[in-house]
Parts: sequence; C-alpha cells; structure tokens
Amino acid sequence: MSSREERLETTLIHASTRGDFEQKTGVVNVPIYLSSTFHQESFDDFGPYDYSRSGNPTRDALEKSIAALEGGARGLAFASGIAAISSAFMLLSSGDHIVITEDVYGGTYRFVTQVLTKFGITHTFADFTNAKDVAIAIQPNTKLLYIETPANPLLGITDIEQIVELAKANDCLTFLDNTFMTPLYQRPLDLGVDVVLHSATKFLSGHSDIIAGLAVTKDEELGNRLAFIQNSFGAILGAQDSYTLIQGIKTMGARLVQSTEAAQKITSYLDSHPLVEEVFYPGLASHPGHAIHAKQSTSPGAVLSFRLPNRETAKAFVESVQIPVFAVSLGGVESILSHPAQMSHAAMPKAEREKRGITDGLLRFSVGLEHVDDLIADFDQALAIANKNLIANN
Ligand SMILES: *Cc1c(COP(=O)(O)O)cnc(C)c1O
Repeated sequence: MSSREERLETTLIHASTRGDFEQKTGVVNVPIYLSSTFHQESFDDFGPYDYSRSGNPTRDALEKSIAALEGGARGLAFASGIAAISSAFMLLSSGDHIVITEDVYGGTYRFVTQVLTKFGITHTFADFTNAKDVAIAIQPNTKLLYIETPANPLLGITDIEQIVELAKANDCLTFLDNTFMTPLYQRPLDLGVDVVLHSATKFLSGHSDIIAGLAVTKDEELGNRLAFIQNSFGAILGAQDSYTLIQGIKTMGARLVQSTEAAQKITSYLDSHPLVEEVFYPGLASHPGHAIHAKQSTSPGAVLSFRLPNRETAKAFVESVQIPVFAVSLGGVESILSHPAQMSHAAMPKAEREKRGITDGLLRFSVGLEHVDDLIADFDQALAIANKNLIANN
C-alpha cells in the first residue's frame, strides 16, 4: 500500500521497515548499523554504501520514513535541527537574499544574522502573518522565503499557500520549519513548499533524549543537491540516534493526540484565569491565525504560550509549579515550561524581542503525557502564588 492511500498513523509505525530490511529478515525494528565503512565486493562496482557519512542503512530507513510521512521525494537526517536548517540554507549562493519570518526560532535567527551574512547572503525580516509585508520585502536577488508556522513562541500563523504563490511569482524557493506540527498535523509539501525542516529533537523523537534534524524536499533534483550538501558539510545523524528517532516516530501519533487534547483543556483553563493576560494557541477562536491554521493543518498541536504581567510573576509561577520541567525544548513526554526571553530567544537583542511580543512575562508550555487534571491543578496552585506575589509587590 502506498503512503498516499493509508492514514499517516499507519505510516508512522511501518515506514522504517518497508525497505530491504523487511524483505530480507523480517525484522520489525531496523538494525543499528554501526559501520563507518563498507567492504566492496568488486574492484569496479561499488555497493549501495561505501562510507557512513555518505550513507548508512539505519539512517537510510529514517530518511525514507520522513520522506514518506511528508510526502516528499527525498528525506535527509542531520545531527540537529539547526544542522538541517543551516545545511538547507547552503542551497543558496553568495549574493542571494532571503525573506524570513520575524518570528523565527532563535537559533535560526542567529545563523541567518551572524553566519550567513559573512558569506554575502543577506536577509530581510518580515511579518509572515501578513503576505503584503512579505511581498514588500522581496528584492530582485531574493531566492528564498523562509516560513515557520505556527511560529515560536507566539504561535503566529502564516498562510502557507499565499506565501508559496508569492514565491512562485518571484522565482523563489520556500522552506518551512514544521517542528511544531509534525507531518501528522501539517504537510507543507502538499501545499507547494520546496523544503520542509524539522528539529526532530522535539515531537518526532518525543522523549527528550536525542538532538536530531530532518529535511525533506518536494522534488528529486533539490533532494540530490541537498544530499550533496549533507555529504559535503557532513552534519549527519549517527546510526544510534537514527534508530532512537525511528522508535520515537512510531509512537508519535498516540503521543501527539493525547498531548493536543490536554493542550486544549489547559488553554481554556488559562484563558479564563484573571492573572493570565493573553493566551497564544491556534486552537482558540480568538487567535488571529485560527481560521488560516484550521485551513492548512488538522490540529492546533500541543504547544501554547501565555503572558503573565511581568518577570517577577513569571518567576514566582515557574518556581511554584511542581510537575513540568523548566527547560529549553519542547515535544517531550514530560511537559516542558520555558521562558523564551531567557531561553529560545536569548540570542535576540532585548529591544528586538519586545518589539516581537516576547516580553519577560511570557511563558511557553509544551504539553506532555501527564494527566491533564494534574497539570491544571499544578498550574492553579502556582498561579495563586504568583498572584499573591504580584499583590505584595504592588
Ligand atoms: C528546537 C528548534 C529548532 C532547532 O533544532 P535543534 O534540534 O535544537 O538544533 C529549530 N526550529 C524550531 C521551531 C525548534 O523548536
């Protein structure tokens, strides 16, 4: 059965063993091929593998899985999400210009502003929730529109088809960071995007145990060019981590569905709490991108953000919650609370950050697999303490 006919929940389980492995041995788990090099049977004809930077059977199984899940021609696995993202940027050349979402992940911001500029690749930030703002930023040498939707950490929504249309009219590529949605909830290549990027460190692996990145190209030609960069730059994912990621992907369907259901309950709780100034979640009808998100994705996902009045209230809240871990990252089985101003967006200057709504009272919450009632009860007692703290300081 092709991946087109079956539902993604099924592909998640079986994609990794649908290659040679299954036919040869019947394994239900892909073996971890710990071999840097491969013996060649003949002097002139080399086999499918020669050296593990260029190709490894375990990584291959993962790369084929993510390509099937995203509906792309070629999948590639990297040592981190940022390795996948920076390698994809290497498809560009000196003199090229990028239009990139101003809500971009902090590490991508750092790479574009501090590394790419050294190689003569320039950029303009634009508000991707407004296609007109993107259109204005396009220059004659613009070669790429870079999308992140929902974006980090305010869950801003970009209309994918509108940006793709704009890119096609201007001869630009489109890249999309699909980390928050995963292919289960959003398939950007189906909407015309050229390259989908993932921090597989997050929901795809799901257990906060590995750092990994994935890229999927819509067509074969771009896939071959990116595979060339993967081999030349060398930021590949190792066989052991490839295996761990394959296993994580198998349970992602069940994990995401449960976490998303809980996220919806937590958002309504937060939305009605008097201390919470604003809740950012594409599932809320009041979210400015709600309708667009519903058009291009099948679920609002398991990440939300909320604004407390100031740094002190946020600090009191974080110091009072007992269940979530307070950490960088998202998408784990454990709920993860983070403080974007000091974590994911620490690389962004304070003025720039605040202009984008990332204030000191903003907290991001990635919902894990704990019982939702326990999470809400924990939030409730912590918000009560934060509230007392606010009253005491006023
Ligand atoms: C974490 C993250 C990245 C970076 O991925 P790493 O695996 O940490 O290198 C990129 N984009 C988004 C949206 C992320 O959340």
